[in-house]
Amino acid sequence: MTGNMHQMNSELFMDLQSAKEVFWGNPSLDPKSTMSGIQEIVDAERRLERFAPYLKKVFPETVDGIIESPIKYIGNMQRTLEDYNKSKIQGQIILKCDHELPIAGSIKARGGIYEVLKIAERIAIKQNWIDEKDDYSKLESKRIRECYSRYSIAVGSTGNLGLSIGIMGAAIGFQVTVHMSRDAKRWKKDLLRGKGVKVVEHEQDFSHAVAEGRKQSLSDPNCFFIDDENSKDLFMGYSVAAMRLREQFRKKGIIVDENHPLIVYLPCGVGGGPGGVTYGLKHVFGEHVHCYFAEPVHSPCMLLGLSTGRHEEISVQEIGLSNRTEADGLAVGRSSALAGKMIERLLNGVFTVTDETLFKLLALLHSSESIALEPSALAGMIGPVLPPVQEHLTSLQVDVTHATHLVWATGGNLVPASIMDEYVKKGKGYLG
Ligand SMILES: *Cc1c(COP(=O)(O)O)cnc(C)c1O
Repeated sequence: MTGNMHQMNSELFMDLQSAKEVFWGNPSLDPKSTMSGIQEIVDAERRLERFAPYLKKVFPETVDGIIESPIKYIGNMQRTLEDYNKSKIQGQIILKCDHELPIAGSIKARGGIYEVLKIAERIAIKQNWIDEKDDYSKLESKRIRECYSRYSIAVGSTGNLGLSIGIMGAAIGFQVTVHMSRDAKRWKKDLLRGKGVKVVEHEQDFSHAVAEGRKQSLSDPNCFFIDDENSKDLFMGYSVAAMRLREQFRKKGIIVDENHPLIVYLPCGVGGGPGGVTYGLKHVFGEHVHCYFAEPVHSPCMLLGLSTGRHEEISVQEIGLSNRTEADGLAVGRSSALAGKMIERLLNGVFTVTDETLFKLLALLHSSESIALEPSALAGMIGPVLPPVQEHLTSLQVDVTHATHLVWATGGNLVPASIMDEYVKKGKGYLG
């Protein structure tokens, strides 16, 4: 094992193994790396635009059929964090409110829905139901939904990806089966069953649930498997967020340049969501954007995969960690090789947080801003006051005096009120 830890010093490795909060700076970061692949992001953005008339009709809660979330200054939380950590934050914190994303209430409304729509479009064009220039709202018809019901979609999930794919897939007319890992919350399974989605519960973790979904799709030629461990489509769906963010910044007059760096803190599970967003942001903002991932101390799969260079070939269980966390969205023991390889030169670093930290941050955000997030979505929130992150930026000669700290809030709007109350209570308990 230690032979594979060549890139990680042994002190960091021991802390990682003992489930302590750690920081890892990425030695492979190439701040000026030249980017290709913008066309794939633009293609994904255009596909979502083609579907906007359909989404507008089926999900009127979207803004003209576009699935996007606002950005928000959280000055009260910024002061609360400064008090909590007894330190000053240079620059300003902004919250990216993906918990407010329509349809699925989490960041999975980006990648998951995008991949379902891409599958639906491919079938519809092949069957001559539409061509690319048509108004896609005509896909919303009883006849076409019946036609789609001859196809099925399978996915493995810890909860939120299942929600997004189940809700979208069922609306189109697909037969959807979601293989849920042991982490998945009861209410997420109930919600899906209520929409006619087949939910299969597994006693094992995420990797097992994904493997079961893959197995099911192999025996059925009309079944599409959405592979969260290896999907370029999911990844590109997430990356579109960057194009939208550029427009939101322009409207609010937020500048990103050498004197106004953008520091982004993203909760990471298998890596597709934060990876796709990072990939997009690097295309849009280049060397002036700095991305950090945040993982639970018991599920640091991306930190482990990147630091060893072994990506999906190593699991957190292999170094003695449990992959047990209340942050169900991040309960992943083995990272996506695709995501890891796409970002290995783009990512600044990874830090880990305990569940206790997540719940404290949840309660602090709730009391200071009246914003309710699920535990996973708080992982990045500590970033702006984390000394090793700020030291790392200094070592890269990033001047944070006028920085924008963008904390990516990845989910929470569908959490039932009674469960949210328990989360807040638990966080307050930790705070004392
Ligand atoms: C899935 C999820 C993430 C992380 O996305 P990955 O693609 O698994 O890395 C973060 N937060 C929430 C709430 C999620 O559901």
